Amino acid sequence: TNIALEHARSHKLPLFLYEEGMDQQHLQKLHILKSLKQALSLNDGQLQMYYQPKKNLSTGKVDKAEALIRWFHPQDGFIPPDVFIELAEQTGLIGQLTDWVILQVLEHVAVWRRDNIDLQVSINISAQDLSRDGLVTFIEQKLQRLQLRPADICLEITERDMMQDEEKSLQQLQIFRDRGFSISMDDYGIGYSALSKLARMPVDEIKIDKCFILNLAETHEDQIIVRSTLTMARELGLSVTAEGVENQASEEWLVASGCHYIQGYFLCRPMAFDKVSPWLTDFQQCSAAGGQQQEIQS
Ligand code: C2E
Ligand code: MG
Ligand code: MG
Ligand code: MG
Repeated sequence: TNIALEHARSHKLPLFLYEEGMDQQHLQKLHILKSLKQALSLNDGQLQMYYQPKKNLSTGKVDKAEALIRWFHPQDGFIPPDVFIELAEQTGLIGQLTDWVILQVLEHVAVWRRDNIDLQVSINISAQDLSRDGLVTFIEQKLQRLQLRPADICLEITERDMMQDEEKSLQQLQIFRDRGFSISMDDYGIGYSALSKLARMPVDEIKIDKCFILNLAETHEDQIIVRSTLTMARELGLSVTAEGVENQASEEWLVASGCHYIQGYFLCRPMAFDKVSPWLTDFQQCSAAGGQQQEIQS
């Protein structure tokens, strides 16, 4: 239990999940799982896709966003994805969840396209999703029905998940890439993969984990890691996104170092679908006026 409690603390998970011993923990997991299945089948608004903008540092424009799932449980309140995604992965529910996410996101992207909003949206997927045979066809059929293209979508897989079954991942990612999807390696730097393996992965983008970015401007070690990642990415022809940019100092450091994209609370927190379009309008007006876009942060 102590290990579980430590884990909960270090990952800022709700302590109710762990503190009353393993049996209680087990019951809570079952409760969450049962509720999640219900939420997926009811589809009554408990689950929602939020979006966090990514700023292109070479143009100053927001042309990408990451889709992040949110769960507002009617009794238990907000349950963070870090809690239920892992559970869904452990129990095989992740396939159903990912399908739900894909459908929601594609419908949102289709609405944005109709309104002339050009965002490439990334979807987080797990190692298990990658090994599912029908996934490519599933996404392609939906894209076609909505008159969207694979290039409208980026798939984010963590470095750790990619290396879990390296050969299989490599194969599957190559298929997605051949079909025109963008691939991003998420949480880069904490997966401890060898550089030789990394270079073989068919990816377009590396997302540096936020633990290296949060205190970037005042942490020399983080600067070394980020700088060498940028150099490596440049050599490999990959784009780099820094996630977890919470302050101006981090952004300035990243601009000066030639990072391609930034994502983080300093630009904007993840927001509901219907907030995105007005936010983009404000952002465009603000950057046209040469100002910072901080007033919407909260
Ligand atoms: P991730 O894919 O690495 O997503 C980035 C996380 O960092 C998000 O947490 C986001 O809200 C948070 N974040 C963004 N900017 C900042 C910042 O400036 N400071 C800090 N401290 N955090 C920032 P979130 O939404 O809680 O998601 C956590 C993880 O859950 C995600 O990490 C991803 O692995 C997983 N996840 C979220 N949505 C989905 C989904 O739809 N499907 C799957 N399979 N996994 C998801
Ligand atoms: Mg991600
Ligand atoms: Mg990440
Ligand atoms: Mg993560």
